[in-house]
Amino acid sequence: MNISSSDCAFLARAVDLAADAVRTGNDPFGSLLVSESGEVLAEDRNRVGDRGDPTQHPEIALSRWAATNLSDSERRSATVYTSGEHCVMCAASHGIVGLGRIVYATSTAQLLTWLDEFGVAPLAITPSPIEQIVPGIVVDGPVAEFSDAVRELHRQRHASEQE
Ligand SMILES: [Zn+2]
Repeated sequence: MNISSSDCAFLARAVDLAADAVRTGNDPFGSLLVSESGEVLAEDRNRVGDRGDPTQHPEIALSRWAATNLSDSERRSATVYTSGEHCVMCAASHGIVGLGRIVYATSTAQLLTWLDEFGVAPLAITPSPIEQIVPGIVVDGPVAEFSDAVRELHRQRHASEQE
């Protein structure tokens, strides 16, 4: 794995966005789209709670933003940083739009372990590694220093759901 200090700074921002999502009654996921030169082009957080639409994931929102606002070559050279590994829907959108590298703070395997620990129903769709959905994609993660913080956000989210 090839994680730089700037990668860690962008992942920290993605985790901050995930914390914003939990504070506003959404699932704990946040993502950023960063250009080749290191400029943050767009960022978003989960909006499933806001909109009552379970497909409102930040990664698919960034794919749509890129489709509207970036050229093919800008998309290929852009990186998506995200607090949790892309689900299959978001991975597909990433590949269809032609975005570049993905860096995630925590993996779907970690998420499944945490949901099981918290007694939460498993995911509605079969998890699959991003590399299986998007051939040739460069993917880095998980990054161990973020796991406790992201686990805590999921714990808070599911504790508030059960109140
Ligand atoms: Zn998703």
